[in-house]
Amino acid sequence: MPWVDEEKCTGCNVCVEKCPVGAISMENERAMINMEECIRCGTCHSVCPKEAVRHDSEKIPENVKNNVAQTKKFMELCAKYLDDIKEKGKCLQRMIKHYNKEKIVAEKTIEELEKLKKGD
Ligand code: SF4
Ligand code: SF4
Repeated sequence: MPWVDEEKCTGCNVCVEKCPVGAISMENERAMINMEECIRCGTCHSVCPKEAVRHDSEKIPENVKNNVAQTKKFMELCAKYLDDIKEKGKCLQRMIKHYNKEKIVAEKTIEELEKLKKGD
């Protein structure tokens, strides 16, 4: 999924004009993508003269960092609100289960999408 690097975007408006579904708008002279409207066509990646439209994969380290930070926060809050230090470990286990579930959903989705290549 595309996102705009605000440091690189010069607000030239090219992507706004070329997006086939009008999913990009300008805010403070920077392009903003409405992910609800975006159909993942990739046009904005190709037309941006500044390589300001970036791929989601670049955010993996940041996503992981955020997930770990959120898990730590939940662990602290579980211990605090349930008034039991042991809740930290239980919370951690629940979050690991949650991300395992997400992994399985992703793997099974990819399996199904691969079948589309064969026209199933
Ligand atoms: S990927 Fe396509 S639909 Fe999405 S914002 Fe870029 S140009 Fe628009
Ligand atoms: S084409 Fe690139 S530089 Fe121009 S507004 Fe869009 S993201 Fe910014």
